[in-house]
Amino acid sequence: MMDDGRVGDGAPGVGGGTVLIAGASELVTGDPQRGAGSLGIIDGGAIVVEHGRVAWVGPLADAPQADTRVDVGGRTLVPGFVDSHSHLVFAGDRAHEFTARMQGEAYDGGGIGVSVAATREASDDELRSLVAVRVAEMRESGTTTFEIKSGYGLTVEDEARSLRIAREFTDETTFLGAHVVAPELRESREAYLDLVTGPMLRACAPHARWIDVFCEPNSPHAFTGDESRRVLEAGRDAGLELRVHGNQLGPGPGVQLAVDLGAASVDHCTYLSDADVDALVGASDRTVATLLPGVEFSTRSPYPDARRLIDAGVSVALASDCNPGTCFTSSMSFMIALAVREMGMTVAEALSAATAGSAKSLRRNDIGTLVPGMRADVTVIDAPSHDHLAYRPGMALTRVLDLGIGRHSSE
Ligand SMILES: [Zn+2]
Repeated sequence: MMDDGRVGDGAPGVGGGTVLIAGASELVTGDPQRGAGSLGIIDGGAIVVEHGRVAWVGPLADAPQADTRVDVGGRTLVPGFVDSHSHLVFAGDRAHEFTARMQGEAYDGGGIGVSVAATREASDDELRSLVAVRVAEMRESGTTTFEIKSGYGLTVEDEARSLRIAREFTDETTFLGAHVVAPELRESREAYLDLVTGPMLRACAPHARWIDVFCEPNSPHAFTGDESRRVLEAGRDAGLELRVHGNQLGPGPGVQLAVDLGAASVDHCTYLSDADVDALVGASDRTVATLLPGVEFSTRSPYPDARRLIDAGVSVALASDCNPGTCFTSSMSFMIALAVREMGMTVAEALSAATAGSAKSLRRNDIGTLVPGMRADVTVIDAPSHDHLAYRPGMALTRVLDLGIGRHSSE
């Protein structure tokens, strides 16, 4: 087998055969019952995959017979990264805005209008190929499951087509018509809310699993607590599950609203009161605090206090928020490095938040760990231990292990 850990022509994984993934220096199962520490690490651990699922994990010496063997050459195996927050459907970029911000200009959400204009101009094919490139970047850096939001169309048709295109790449699609008030309705917020909770929601709901809102009274472009509640309740009535952008730019009602409505996730959580933290602790079985440190990096803002959340008992996830304005990178390794260096998380906590934590925020129980029954979404780190994720920031160490799904064995 090729010693870079890639499977050449013809390894199975989903077909009838079983595949033994061997040669790992370290296998991170994500289940403390199965190995050492909170990550459940098995030194020299192996995985058997059958029908695209994990069939067995344990020490290589105990591994059952398999039809095919893949040797990963002393690398580390971890659960595939789960990026539970991204905005990949957009055209154009806003590099100039980033550059200006680095020279001292403030961010208030206003630049979103620039991406809205470019996205409306783009054809379906242009948008589709832009998303395809960004999805390929995610996979090349080790992400196996990802969510995609709309939110740069802000008309009935442009939001619906954004979601139709996103659905071609993932089932985890989120209607974010309430990203900002559409530019043409800036003077009539009520009319825009009527649109978002009426015709736009009806056109988008068939293509979305989730609804989200940019609940941010500190931005004149985003939505107040009452407006956000209206959006979320309408979405829930239309059968969508709830996510919230909250407490990004300053203290606000987003966290309390998310907890009140039983949202799966409240994302950003940069400015939290003690009451917000208490609410998240009380809701830790159903509402995850998703931290997006790439945004603080790219806007040169204070990072969320991850230690405070974890020590209090809040469920925490890490995601990229990949978007053209405030964080144009989807590298989950980078998010892990930031979480460790800037937010006081241990490497184990950060990796767990980027896998099991973000799976929980998507209410998925088939991804996020490598134990029998889970999807065989395996990411390889080109290093002898998972610590290298944060220890060697900026290095291209991670990629999805390609099990050649659907092809048959030649070995
Ligand atoms: Zn976002």
